[in-house]
Amino acid sequence: MSIKPLKELSTLVSLCKRRGFIFQSSEIYGGLNSCWDYGPLGAQFKLNVKMSWWREMTRRADIVGLDAAILMHPTVWKASGHVDGFSDPLVDCKACKHRFREDTAMVDGKVTCPKCGSTDVTESRSFNLMFKTHMGPVDNEGAVVYLRPETAQGIFVNFENVATSMRKKIPFGIAQIGKSFRNEITPGNFTFRTREFEQMEMQYFVKPGTDEEWFEHWKEVRWSYYGKLGLNQEKLRYKEHGPDELAHYAKAAFDVQYEFPFGWQELEGVHNRSDFDLSQHQEFSGKKLEYFEEASKDRFVPYVIETAVGCDRLALALLCDAYREEPEQDNRVVLGLRPELAPVKVAFLPLSKKPELQELSQKLHQQALEHWEADYDETASIGKRYRRQDEIGTPLCVTVDFDSLEDQKVTVRHRDSMAQDRVAMDQLHSYVGDKLRNW
Ligand code: ATP
Repeated sequence: MSIKPLKELSTLVSLCKRRGFIFQSSEIYGGLNSCWDYGPLGAQFKLNVKMSWWREMTRRADIVGLDAAILMHPTVWKASGHVDGFSDPLVDCKACKHRFREDTAMVDGKVTCPKCGSTDVTESRSFNLMFKTHMGPVDNEGAVVYLRPETAQGIFVNFENVATSMRKKIPFGIAQIGKSFRNEITPGNFTFRTREFEQMEMQYFVKPGTDEEWFEHWKEVRWSYYGKLGLNQEKLRYKEHGPDELAHYAKAAFDVQYEFPFGWQELEGVHNRSDFDLSQHQEFSGKKLEYFEEASKDRFVPYVIETAVGCDRLALALLCDAYREEPEQDNRVVLGLRPELAPVKVAFLPLSKKPELQELSQKLHQQALEHWEADYDETASIGKRYRRQDEIGTPLCVTVDFDSLEDQKVTVRHRDSMAQDRVAMDQLHSYVGDKLRNW
C-alpha cells in the first residue's frame, strides 16, 4: 500500500486545530505570537509523551524525580552564567525591518536577511533571552527574578538535598519535567520554537574520569528511547557540536536531530557539562557541593551528563512522524501513533442512533473509561466516524450493531489494517488490553 508522509507543516497545523490538539493562544484576541494552547486531545497526548519519558527515566534504581519551582533565587542565574552569557546576537534588516539571529543567517560568510536576502543589516546587539519579572509589590532592580530558561538549575541546587534524603550514591541521576521560558528572537515553526515551553531534563552525576564513558552510555540509551517511541529511524541522527559550537559549560555535546518538514533540527541535547554547574554553585552560594565516596575515600565535585529534550518539540516530531495519507484508501488520513501515545485508545460507536444501541455503547464506554482514555461518538455515518478516529490516532474502534443485542458480540476495527474482528462483549476488556499492549 502506498503511503504519503507529511509534506507541509501547515497540513498538520490545521489537523491539530480541527481535531482539538493545538490551538493558537488567545485566538479570539487575534492570538499571541508563538504561544499555543493544547486542546483536549493535545493535552492528553502531551501527557502521554511526558509519561513515556518519566517512566523511561525514573523506573530505574539510579534515577529519581524532582519538581522544582520556576522562580529561583536570582543568584542562581549569575552562577549558571545565564545573566552574563545567555544571549543571542540580534540583527535588524535595514531593507525589510525583519529581526533575526545573526548566527543563523550567514550566507557565504555574510550576514544575510533570511526574509528578503538583503545584506544591508545593522551591527549585532547582544540580547539576553531570560524573561525578567519582579517579586513582591516593589518594582525595582532589587526585586528582579527570572522565569527559568532551563529546568537544569533546579536540579543542581537540589543535588545535596536529593542525595541526602534519598540516600543516593554516585553515579545517580535526577529527572525533571517542567516549563521553561526564553525570549527567543525568532520563534516559529508551530510549536518547534516557542517562548514558553516544557523541558524534560535529566542530570546524571558521576565521578570525574568516568564521565566520557557515561556520556557514551547516555547517547545509546537516548537513541534507543526514540526507537521505542516508534520514530522513523531514517529521520533521526546524531550531530556532534564542533569546538566553536559548544556551550560555555560543555565539555562535549551531541544533538539528536529529527528531520522535520522544515529540515533537520535539534530534538534533544546530550551534554557533558563537566563539574561546571556544581562548582559555580559552590562558589556563589558558599556551600560545599562535594561528594564523599566511601569506598575510595575520594572527595570530589561530580561531573554531570545531561540529557535535555523539549516536550513540545518531541510531541511535534511524533505528530509529524505519525501523519500519513493513504491514497488507495480514499486519501484517508491516519496518525499512526503507538497506542501508549495515542490520546484515545478505544472509541465506541453505535451503528445508528437507535436508543438500544446508544445505551449499550455508552455502557461499554463507561466500562472502558475505568482502564483507558476512551471516546464515544454517535454523530455522522460510521465511515466518517472511523476516519475521524483514524485522524486522531485511535488504535481501536468498537462498533455496536443490531446483532450485538442478540449475540452479545461487537465489531472491533483496527486503525492500521482496518481489519475487523467480532469479539464477545465479556471478552472485550482482555481483547482490547492485549491488542494495545502487543501493538
Ligand atoms: P536551540 O539551539 O534550538 O535554541 P538549545 O540548544 O538552546 O536549542 P537546549 O538549551 O539544549 O536547547 O534545550 C534542550 C531542549 O529544549 C532542546 O533540544 C529543545 O528540544 C528544547 N527547547 C529549547 N528551546 C526551545 C524553544 N524555544 N521552544 C521549544 N523547545 C525548546
